[in-house]
Amino acid sequence: MILNQKYFIENGEFFNKKVIVRVDYNVPTDKDNKVTDETRILKSLKTIKFLIDNNAKVILISHKGRPKEKSKKDSLEPVKEVLEKLLKENNINYNKVLFIDDCVGEKVKNEIDKMSNKDIAILENLRFYKEEEDNDEEFAKKLASLADIYVSDAFGAIHRAHASITGIAKFIPFYYGYLIKEEVDSLNYVLHAKEKPLVALIGGSKVSSKIDVLKSLINKVDILLIGGAMAYTFLKAKGLDIGKSLVENDRLVFVNELFSIANQKGVEIVLPCDHIVVEDVENYKKIIKTSGIEIPENLIGVDIGPKTIKEFIKYLKKGKVIFWNGPVGIFENKDFAKGTMEIAKGIAKIKAFKVVGGGDSVAAVNQAKVEKGFSHISTGGGASLEYIEGKKLPGLEIFE
Ligand code: ADP
Ligand code: MG
Repeated sequence: MILNQKYFIENGEFFNKKVIVRVDYNVPTDKDNKVTDETRILKSLKTIKFLIDNNAKVILISHKGRPKEKSKKDSLEPVKEVLEKLLKENNINYNKVLFIDDCVGEKVKNEIDKMSNKDIAILENLRFYKEEEDNDEEFAKKLASLADIYVSDAFGAIHRAHASITGIAKFIPFYYGYLIKEEVDSLNYVLHAKEKPLVALIGGSKVSSKIDVLKSLINKVDILLIGGAMAYTFLKAKGLDIGKSLVENDRLVFVNELFSIANQKGVEIVLPCDHIVVEDVENYKKIIKTSGIEIPENLIGVDIGPKTIKEFIKYLKKGKVIFWNGPVGIFENKDFAKGTMEIAKGIAKIKAFKVVGGGDSVAAVNQAKVEKGFSHISTGGGASLEYIEGKKLPGLEIFE
């Protein structure tokens, strides 16, 4: 998708204005609702800074979790403290941050009317109202009535046609922020890579959840590496023994179609050539390395083997553009994390334009502590994958 520049935040006029910004503060929290990962809050700073520097009043709205009703567990209040800390650390010249414990209505309006320029208000979780997900027009209108201008910057929710994502833009002037620009530019760089080869590594647990991603990428990439549990379905389609590893028999036809498209297009599909296997994923006595590509009867593949790590890195190094989605093993267990960690570190060292997307894949990059080695870490999860699949994302369509 190509966004129309005229909607970019830098082309708006925000001086003295009340600006309602849809951010993605759907942050992970612990049992006391303390924020355990600040990435999404950090990613919202650039747009906030721009508005503060333009003397605006900034009103932040977001969802968090999937609440059925108003509850402390899903309140956005704990974000306030983290946001203040990050604003200070990044020398952003704001006036004050306040939290308002609702997101629509008279009380919220009154609080906002008291705001000075350079103040920031965080409103309570949008999803405490069912109307948000229903894209209810009245609700969207109420949100819009709180401000003069709307800025959309919640890339992680941009595939949802919700009131705060699309509905609100019917009522006030609208723009997109820096995070959306960065995400779309980076994913476009992958999808329309002018520099070749484009190498993609797709892993994760299921072929079925990645069908559309694979269908899209097979028409774009030069080399496609397959890891994770998905790889066993690919190996089985080639007639190889995979022991008791996870397999999706109902996807063998699809995988064979993919092989034949690859063949026609001259795309190289690279599969693991050795594996880490165990007798039982939960209760294993020893961790075994296979000697070759096949997996003995009764054993289960849980990670790629050392030869595969080398082989994958060799192919990744050929890339001028690299896209990675999906861990290559059950990396949540450190006994099975080596493949994924080595791949993360390996990609980080390569000189290329490197994008990683997907919730678990980004978690793996963080776990390997190699965030800096990536050109772009897509915070979008589901949204990033839908973008790669070539789907139209409702929250972006308003900017075409
Ligand atoms: P992302 O969130 O980055 O898109 P996925 O959700 O598709 O990634 O895949 C992540 C999951 O895949 C992880 O939970 C991981 O344990 C699982 N996985 C990877 N390799 C295997 C394997 N060999 N067997 C079972 N599960 C695997
Ligand atoms: Mg996942």
